[in-house]
Amino acid sequence: MKTVDHIYINGSFIKPHGKEVLELVNPSTRAAIARVTLADEQDAQAAIAAAKAAYQSFSRTSKEQRMAYLQRLHDAVAARSEELLEVMIEEYGGPLRISKASTQRAADSFLQARELLKTFEFVQHVGISKVVLEPLGVVGLITPWNANYSFICSKLAMAVAAGSTAVIKPSELSALQTQLLTECLHAAGLPPGVINIVTGRGATVGAEMTRHPDIAKISFTGSTLVGKTIARGAVDTMKRVTLELGGKSPNLILDDADLATAIPLAVAAATVNSGQACMAGTRLIVPESRLDEVKRLATDAMQALRVGNPRDSATAIGPMVTQTQYDRVQGYIRLGIEEGAELLSGGPGHPAGLEDGYFVKPTVFANVTMDMRIAKEEIFGPVLVILSYKTEDEAIEMANDTIYGLHAFVSSSDLGRANRVAAQIVAGRVFINGMYDEPRAPFGGFKQSGIGREFGRYGLEAYLEPKAVMGHGETSNENTQ
Ligand code: NAD
Repeated sequence: MKTVDHIYINGSFIKPHGKEVLELVNPSTRAAIARVTLADEQDAQAAIAAAKAAYQSFSRTSKEQRMAYLQRLHDAVAARSEELLEVMIEEYGGPLRISKASTQRAADSFLQARELLKTFEFVQHVGISKVVLEPLGVVGLITPWNANYSFICSKLAMAVAAGSTAVIKPSELSALQTQLLTECLHAAGLPPGVINIVTGRGATVGAEMTRHPDIAKISFTGSTLVGKTIARGAVDTMKRVTLELGGKSPNLILDDADLATAIPLAVAAATVNSGQACMAGTRLIVPESRLDEVKRLATDAMQALRVGNPRDSATAIGPMVTQTQYDRVQGYIRLGIEEGAELLSGGPGHPAGLEDGYFVKPTVFANVTMDMRIAKEEIFGPVLVILSYKTEDEAIEMANDTIYGLHAFVSSSDLGRANRVAAQIVAGRVFINGMYDEPRAPFGGFKQSGIGREFGRYGLEAYLEPKAVMGHGETSNENTQ
């Protein structure tokens, strides 16, 4: 049993003022693995004060200095990647392949930010005006449990690149991962107060960050429900917000698609990160004329997914993160049956032999209609619903019939047609005929999937405020901007 009883403020590991102790279990076995002392409002205030003090000088650092810091952050995180991976599997239960990718992505995000800075101009010219892109102040970074390292690192990388100092509130369910990551970030040796990490509950630490006048921006990744709470709270001090929220992403299979490729891909897209992924393609929208073929292929692909020990490289689906998450997924599987959907594969309960952990059966429903809750609500587990359409227009309407707009997938053997359909889908990202990774491209949602974008140039600009200076007397380049 490990103990996490320190938080990180002003470059030091200190005992929190908070006294609540949370016990964490390994989701694969339900064995207790850690006791965590959670931070409280007072700890959040101390972290904000440290970040505010550090901001004075950090906001004036040169681009070159920050590029050097980003390199050091990368090196420090990459140096302990094996340990980070091990703790992610133990605490979160992420399958080996996705956990490796996530750990790698965390370290890489610092290099990507460094690369971006090479060509990013913080001073631009618009007519007679000099436009200076300034950091907007201390930022609060609030992250979920489903990819703890990479959310913390990608947000922190942009904050550092912009010249901001940060107060980070990771999920309380990721305390062991956060402790190790904090040791890495500390080893990078940034000035005290630039990075502060306070693991505590959302309703205490997160709420204090949201209302505190010395935080200028909150970058949040998590549920739409909490995102709305943060947006409401942030407005009193007119904080900027970047909100990366939930999704119920459509996967639109056009009638000319090669189903033998598209359907296994769709099952993979629905169950990525054990289905605990905001971008998961969980609504499969298929032509009615090919429904029987789709049902057969989807059932086969779902049943081929190995559920179990996340350390095994053949495992595709690990456990759900907690009992609460397990119950939530079970609840939706039962609901699908009650709503009259056709259960093709999976169903309630644990897979045989996996009763000890929070394992669920990867499940696929057919004969689903858009009025069913399993077609509308984010389940956040390996559950795929199949809807069918008669015309392409109907398919597009169905794809857009959601409060979300984070991600979408389109499959067709005619690329021109796929692009025309993609153009009509209201989503922040569309993948055509595959799964891709482009960390420089913007990531974020339309509608209730959030506000703003992360990653790359768009992500960096979200940490900056433009200041237009006129009458500056400098020679300007009239052609820029
Ligand atoms: P969550 O919203 O419950 O919690 C996210 C974070 O917010 C945690 O750190 C939590 O402690 C904190 N929080 C909770 N209440 C708060 C409050 N009142 N004020 C401030 N902070 C508060 O989400 P979760 O269960 O950790 O993660 C799952 C959700 O995250 C899913 O809905 C998923 O779609 C979403 N998600 C979105 C993205 C994306 O990029 N769009 C990525 C991953 C996860």
